[in-house]
Amino acid sequence: MQKDIIVIGAGPAALSFVRSMRNSHLQITVLEQAPENAIAEPEYDGRDIALTHASRELLRDLDVWQQFDPQEIYPISKACVVDGDSPYSLDFDSQQKSYDALGFIISNHIIRQTLYEATKTQTNLSIAYNSNVSEIAKIDEGYKVSLADGQSFETKLLVAADSRFSKTRSQAGISADINDFARTAIVARMQHQASNQHTAFECFQYGHTLAVLPLGEKQSSVVVTANTDKANQLLKLGDEAFIEFVQHNLKHRLGDMTFSSKRFNYPLVGVHARQFIKPHFALIGDAAVGMHPVTAHGFNLGLSSAYLFARQIINALDNDQDYTTEKVLKGYQNRHMMETRIMYYGTNGVVKLFTDEHLPAKLARKAVLRLSNLLPPIKWAIEKKLTDVKHGSPF
Ligand SMILES: Cc1cc2nc3c(=O)[nH]c(=O)nc-3n(C[C@H](O)[C@H](O)[C@H](O)COP(=O)(O)OP(=O)(O)OC[C@H]3O[C@@H](n4cnc5c(N)ncnc54)[C@H](O)[C@@H]3O)c2cc1C
Repeated sequence: MQKDIIVIGAGPAALSFVRSMRNSHLQITVLEQAPENAIAEPEYDGRDIALTHASRELLRDLDVWQQFDPQEIYPISKACVVDGDSPYSLDFDSQQKSYDALGFIISNHIIRQTLYEATKTQTNLSIAYNSNVSEIAKIDEGYKVSLADGQSFETKLLVAADSRFSKTRSQAGISADINDFARTAIVARMQHQASNQHTAFECFQYGHTLAVLPLGEKQSSVVVTANTDKANQLLKLGDEAFIEFVQHNLKHRLGDMTFSSKRFNYPLVGVHARQFIKPHFALIGDAAVGMHPVTAHGFNLGLSSAYLFARQIINALDNDQDYTTEKVLKGYQNRHMMETRIMYYGTNGVVKLFTDEHLPAKLARKAVLRLSNLLPPIKWAIEKKLTDVKHGSPF
């Protein structure tokens, strides 16, 4: 029997899509390669996710934000960007503005678990675990999806949310701009003696960068990004030597530090698909756009894609129209392409500028920070991106 919608993957983007479709009569089948406990009770994975105000609004609309334990939501009150050893910094402060925070940090495993809890009672959802999709093939009016264990299904609409390394993206004939930064992010939670004053730091040192996201006053998520060779050396350091490295790079701003989690590492690859749709097929989440984490926009964009695509489908259903028409798919693609292109290439430009160790680049980034501080419109534009609550479209 042909299924209404098949979604590949049960990551946060897929489950946001499912949640956005909760009032629809369409039956959704999610195929996930991982076992059930990995989705129902995900473990801490080192990713503490910075969410924009627009994402908070979307998650509120999905009745998911309300389900987060308030203790697990960490507001970012201030942000401070530092370049090299320069005492000069680019500063943002929400307390001088009308909004309550610049953004909010929630751990990835909490987001995933809360989305799972919110969707599991939906009567229009079934999730097949241990289901590794090995092949997809176009058929008349839909797709055939085959699993590694030999099972197969047919669907009228196939939604791929199978990560930035999506296999189904290329199987559907969609090419992507893939940028292997040859850099690795090392992430860990750390406790510290001094208060972070709910401040996020981004320190662009020479050869590596260090980001600190506040998780309460005395705990932060620390993200060290370096070229993969150097990251491998840092991963081999013992705990004490690594802590010393972080303290030194933070100029002991946070006092003595200790680990409150183990270290995790993520190779950094950026992806922007050249199309998000084909007939009866769409990409959402990282499968459509996988961002470098420096601007902390990956899941914000993934959530936006899931919500936006679901809105297009629901609008068609409300008007008694077919939910797989070109109009529905293009409505999603056009909006999401517009939102993500500038963000994706802009972020890659920032990465290039702030990791280039040649003198002109070093001078250029000092100039960028000063200009941004001196020219209020630039700062306002950055703040607006974080705090705007334009519904259905964070950017
Ligand atoms: C270090 C780091 C920090 C980050 N910080 C931020 C931040 O501050 N703010 C932010 O917005 N974003 C951030 N992100 C990005 C964010 O984590 C991702 O955008 C988000 O997790 C992507 O969700 P997704 O559902 O698209 O993909 P994924 O989470 O990758 O999920 C994909 C799912 O598909 C399944 N799957 C894959 N292949 C198959 C297959 N063949 N068959 C069946 N199932 C399959 C996988 O098992 C998985 O469950 C960060 C990322 C990193 C690495």
